[in-house]
Formats: sequence, structure tokens, C-alpha cells
Amino acid sequence: MNLFEQLGIGPKTVQAISELGFEAPTPIQEQAIPELLKGNRDFVGLAQTGTGKTAAFGLPMLELIDLGLRQPQALVLCPTRELCLQITNDLVNFSKYLGQVSVVAVYGGASIINQMRDLKRGAHIIVATPGRMLDIINRNVINFDNVRISVLDEADEMLNMGFQEDINAILSHTPDTKNTWLFSATMPNEVRRISQNYMTDPFELTVGNRNEGNSNIEHEYYIAKARDKYAAFKRLVDFNPEIFGIVFCRTKIETQEIAEALIRDGYNADALHGDLSQQQRDKVMKRYRDRSLQLLIATDVAARGIDVNDVTHVINYSLPDDVESYTHRSGRTARAGKTGVSMAIINSKEMGKIRQIERIIKKKFTKCDIPSGFDVCEKQLFALIHKVHNVQVNEQIDQYLERINAEFADVSKEDIIKRFASLEFNRFLDYYKNAPDLNARADERESRERGDRNTMRSGGKFTRLFVNLGSLDDFTRGDMLRYVCDNAHVSGSKIGRIDVKGVYSFFEVESEIVDKVFEGFKQKDFNGRQVRIEISQDGDRKREERRSGFGGGRSFSGNREGGERRGGFNGNRERGGDRDRNDRGDRGGRGGYGGNRERKPSNSGSDDKRGRW
Ligand code: AMP
Repeated sequence: MNLFEQLGIGPKTVQAISELGFEAPTPIQEQAIPELLKGNRDFVGLAQTGTGKTAAFGLPMLELIDLGLRQPQALVLCPTRELCLQITNDLVNFSKYLGQVSVVAVYGGASIINQMRDLKRGAHIIVATPGRMLDIINRNVINFDNVRISVLDEADEMLNMGFQEDINAILSHTPDTKNTWLFSATMPNEVRRISQNYMTDPFELTVGNRNEGNSNIEHEYYIAKARDKYAAFKRLVDFNPEIFGIVFCRTKIETQEIAEALIRDGYNADALHGDLSQQQRDKVMKRYRDRSLQLLIATDVAARGIDVNDVTHVINYSLPDDVESYTHRSGRTARAGKTGVSMAIINSKEMGKIRQIERIIKKKFTKCDIPSGFDVCEKQLFALIHKVHNVQVNEQIDQYLERINAEFADVSKEDIIKRFASLEFNRFLDYYKNAPDLNARADERESRERGDRNTMRSGGKFTRLFVNLGSLDDFTRGDMLRYVCDNAHVSGSKIGRIDVKGVYSFFEVESEIVDKVFEGFKQKDFNGRQVRIEISQDGDRKREERRSGFGGGRSFSGNREGGERRGGFNGNRERGGDRDRNDRGDRGGRGGYGGNRERKPSNSGSDDKRGRW
């Protein structure tokens, strides 16, 4: 017997959900379904979105409905139109083989006349947002006498959105004999009060601990100065080539600005907030659901009820004012048993908020470093390599193979790989070699603990130099220190911070000995390769900081050059003006390197306005 049948679900429904890929019940389904099927008890389920709670109440609800009676028997109230449509859709799918189950969605922003017409035709189940439901009730066109079940889904969200009075009014039109099933991700006092007012001895179920976040979510925070925040954010995106994320901002303006800046910088992003028309919001959501959008930039309110599977990252561009909202934000990832990451970019004064959130979610954040430009290059390079390895070969390429092979006749496989990787890697290296460290160091003590040599020095102005040798040439920091001292004939006290990367490194020297260092490395070679030293220009850093926009008092609109331009590594065949191309389902942005053809560094060097690409 199927596991759902063992819980009491009928074979027709089991067939429908099997087709949806439901093989085994989720924990909340396992515990709630047998209880709810009894049809004689109120119920409180503390569960995050993504736990399978819609089926937890939807499946028993369908079993309890009398299909012969075409009257509203179940009323589901939920906070947003998005969620309303989602639940309706799920119930329709679950009941595919049950015969004529009529489920009607009632929500604002669409024709009330059409909805009333659908209701008049007869509905077994109504799924509604409270405002529109009350409008319809007030028009005296609905009879709730046969309602046996009322569901309050995402009750905490409904209360947050100010629906308390509407809910009271709606429920007062339903029979006292009905059962109420309440679902909520958190249990603030207001929700507790609802359960006390409307329920008798409810069966309580907590999936995970109360208010606690989903255990499949890793929580990370990154500390950046306000002026570096946008650049830091883009580094995080670049460091995750396969990101499919939701980025939360605090205000509509910030949401719009970040989205516009990202689009300008070649990312596949769009905004979702309350100043957009319903039609615009639907369009954005459709693109996101279809995966033709890679980054959805949203306010808390607009993102309520978003139920998209496979969101890999939630990024808190700004932490929410109300720390409880963090649980809702992070709950948009790691749905249906998957894993996910919730990142917060904060300034050092916001540590208190992180600790507060940790207490709520009962989980520790990991403090992570904002990846360096080099880290990003490396990550992107290997994403490309991986992609090449797994690419589906198009047969049409066969016709060119002879010519291609002839071209490479004198080159070994190793050499081809080297050249191919260099082609891409050099480009990123060029872009990122002077990229600044964007981590805001908490204090000098922490810095000292990290062994940053420069902060251990007093006075002495340092100049940062680039050298084309790194860990792949077996250099450690100590080796590099010795190597520089030996060749430049200077003492170690003249050397500051050393950052050894893969194929190159940076080191700081007291400015007065820069010439001596250049002299020391003149004509120097290492394993047959000429050693190249360059000044890593401080001016570049300042320019990048200026471009970073946010926090520095500049608005994006006044900052056409955007922030730290990574040139849209995550791809994006589309550019700002071509946004609608995404509607054709071009996944552009997920493509890593390959999706970035239009933004290759210009060899002419004349495209200064667009940054380096
Ligand atoms: P929910 O928490 O109801 O929004 O569900 C989150 C996602 O999990 C939805 O996409 C469901 O289709 C999916 N889901 C729910 N229950 C199961 C199950 N037993 N097996 C597989 N997927 C499920």
C-alpha cells in the first residue's frame, strides 16, 4: 500500500499526487493528515512554508468534502494573491481524478464580477485573500452555512498585513460547528490569541522547533562598509555562478534601484515591489518561475507567499527592520527538503541584529569573507570547465570538425586545454587583478589575529604590488616574503601585507623602496617564465569605491558607471533595454562565462564609460 494510502488518503488522490512526484509524505503531512481526516478537531500547525503544508491540509480537506453538495464546504484564507493562486492550483491538481471538484480563487486585483459568477456556479472550496472575500460577503452573494472547515494559512503573515479585523468579520459568517485549521511559520502572541479565540482544544503540531528556521538552510553574514555594499553583493553573486536567488531590500526605492543597477551591470535581475501594477508583478513572477530571471529583487511585502522551488540563495541586501521577518525571507529557500543559503550583508554595527535573529531561529550564522576578485575568477573558471565537460554536443558541429582539427593539428590536448582556459581566465584576471578587498575589518585586533602584516607596521606608507607568481608556483606567504627580500635586497620590515593567490599574488612594500623592488626583479625569471611586477593602482580602488554607489550618498541614477563591474560573469545575454527577451524563456543569466559574450573586455580600450568590459 502506498504511504499516503496508509495515512488514509483515497486511491484517486494518491494517483494524482504520485503524478506530481509525491512519493512519501513530508513530516507535517505524516503527522497532520491522519489527525485532520478525523474531521472533528481544530488544528494548529507551526510550519514553515516549503514543508508541504498545502498538501497537509489540502489532501484531508478533499477527502472530507461531499462532492454531491455544490456549496462552499471549506474556506481557505491566505495573505496574498500569489499564495491564493498557488493553493488553488495545488488543490485542482490533487483532485484531478476525483471528478468535479470546484475550487474557486477569490483575490484582489482581478474582476470581482467574474469571481462572483464563478461562486454562483457553485464552489466546494473557496481559497481567498481576506479583503476581497469580505467585499463579496458584503454583497450578500454567498452562503457559508455548509462550511465545515476553515483554514488560516500563513496566519502570522495575515496578521502582519493587518487582516485581523477582516478575518474576524469573515469567520463570523461561518458556522460555529466548523473546524479551524491554522498554519503559521511563527507563533507571536497575536497568532496565539487567534487560536484561543477561534479554536477549542486544538491539536498542535510543530514541525521543527517553534519559530525556528528550516534546518536545511545555512545562514551566513558578510561585513562590508556601506560604500562597498553593492560591490560586495555583486561579488557574492559572481562567486555563485549557478545562483537562482531572491534578494531582499528594505524599501521599494532600494529594491528598484538595486534592480536597475544590476540590469545596467549586465545581470539577469528584476524588481518586485508594491509600486508595480499587478500586471507588471505577474510578468516578473512568471519570468522568475520560468527561470528566465536569475535574481528577483523584492520587498518583504511583495515577496509574501512566493512559492518557487529550487531557490538556491536568499540574500538580505538589507536586514529587515522586524527581525521576525528574517524567518520568512530565509524560508523562501531550502523548500521541499532541498538545501539553501541565506546570506546577510551587514555593517559592523548590525552584529546585534544578527545575534537577535540567531536567538529566534535557534541557529548560528557563519561569518564569511566576501570573496576576493581572484576567488571569483577561480570559481567562474571552474564553473566554465564543468560546463564544458557536461555540455550536450550539437551534431551540427560535426561539419566543422575537420577544419577545427586541422587548425589544432600541431597542438597537444594539454595545450588546447591550457589555451582555452587562459582565453577566459586572462579576461577575468585582467578585470579583477586590482579588485579591492571588500571586507570591513571589525577592528585592528581581529586583523592582527588574521596575521595581516600591514596592520602590524606603524607609520610607513605602503604601495601594493602585483606579481605573476602564486600558490600554483608553490609560494606561501613566507616564501613570497623571502623571495621579495632576497631579490630586492630589502629587509622583511619593509614589506607589508602579502596575499598569495593561485597564479599571482599581491604584496605591499614601503613606498620608498618600490624602485628598488622593480630593479631587483628586472629580467628575473622563474621556471622559465618572466617575473612581472606591477603597481596595483590605488587609484583603481578609489575609482571602484566611487563607482560602488550605495551608501556613499550617491544614487544609482547619478552613477551611470555602476559599481564594481564584473562584466556580468553570470552571464546575461540580455542588457537593460532587452529585458523582454527573457519572456521567451532565455535562461541567459545562468550561463556563467558563456552568457557574457557581449561584455568582453574591449581591446580598443576606448569604452571607458562602461568600465572595463
Ligand atoms: P508547501 O509547503 O505546501 O508550499 O510545499 C512546498 C513544495 O513541496 C511544493 O512544491 C509541493 O508540491 C512539494 N511537496 C509537498 N509535499 C510533497 C511530498 N510529499 N513529496 C514531494 N514534494 C512535495
